[in-house]
Amino acid sequence: MFGIGTKNIGIDLGTANTIVYAEGKGIVLREPSVVAKNTKTGEIVSVGSEARDMIGRTPASIVAIRPMKDGVIADYDTTVAMMKYYIDKALGHKTGKPYVMVCVPSGVTEVEKRAVIDATRVAGARDAYVIEEPFAAAIGAGLPVMDPTGSMVVDIGGGTTDVATISLGGIVSSRSIRMAGDKIDDAIVYYVRQHNNLLIGERTAEQLKMDVASASVEAAKELDNQTIRGRDLVSGLPKTIEIEAVDVAKAIQEVIQEIISAIKETLEETSPEIAADVIDHGIVLTGGGAQLRHLPEVISDATKVPVFIASEPLDCVAIGTGESLKSIDVMKKK
Ligand code: ADP
Ligand code: MG
Repeated sequence: MFGIGTKNIGIDLGTANTIVYAEGKGIVLREPSVVAKNTKTGEIVSVGSEARDMIGRTPASIVAIRPMKDGVIADYDTTVAMMKYYIDKALGHKTGKPYVMVCVPSGVTEVEKRAVIDATRVAGARDAYVIEEPFAAAIGAGLPVMDPTGSMVVDIGGGTTDVATISLGGIVSSRSIRMAGDKIDDAIVYYVRQHNNLLIGERTAEQLKMDVASASVEAAKELDNQTIRGRDLVSGLPKTIEIEAVDVAKAIQEVIQEIISAIKETLEETSPEIAADVIDHGIVLTGGGAQLRHLPEVISDATKVPVFIASEPLDCVAIGTGESLKSIDVMKKK
């Protein structure tokens, strides 16, 4: 479209995962948002899944950094390095610079938005544009965002949960809370430390969440116990324990309730017409956190609205960001 051979790309710069969509190709890259650096030289040791496997396991000479926190850039230089690596990898060539669309959580400040645009330019974009994450998620989930009908999307990522109602191509009401996958992991670490005197790492907590966590304490009674390893706080030695799924469900209840409150508040702010549309079409969940066991049922019970998980929930934001590249043409003319 702009320059032969150069694809324009859409980037879902997530707290947990970075996903790149190339125009005409679809999703070309999915990697964790993690960078491992040499602490002495500042040199990058690895980026992506290799770097993620190093979290909690690095010697003094290496540090594994997650440069995005709570949906925004926490470490600018590392974010630039990571984006540069992913943009180059996604394009697979160095001729011409792409136009890049990046998503940001709804409710970020102008300064935070500016930082994303600057970082994307420094990382190699000819120019960069931002799109609000819940809007991208809704496009990616296939919701009729341009129609005169209300849709509701809840994107539960690593750092933020973004809730929005959308109609006629715009966000009608939204909430972005810093309560999502990472806070669920933290809650598990905290619970196991308090109740089992065992210190576990964030990767172990995340694995435990994927294996047995449930949004419903009641439904968790049907799930099997799980074996976990960590460091005994009393003896200081490694230890293996069995943890009940009910305990994991209890551990994460507070975070689940915060997410439900954000959904209710967003619903309360909409017009009666949009609320009625949402009751008709249901709430659509996207993001990795949408895959938490029994979450649709629990949200549906609390809101009295049907709840569905989008197909490919982890990819929705990237797909929506990529599809909105088409509007760059329009934006450039403004
Ligand atoms: P982000 O957009 O912030 O990068 P993602 O949408 O990629 O986040 O989702 C990542 C989050 O989803 C992580 O916190 C991860 O632990 C969580 N997640 C992934 N799979 C599951 C699952 N099966 N159950 C619960 N949480 C999950
Ligand atoms: Mg996301």
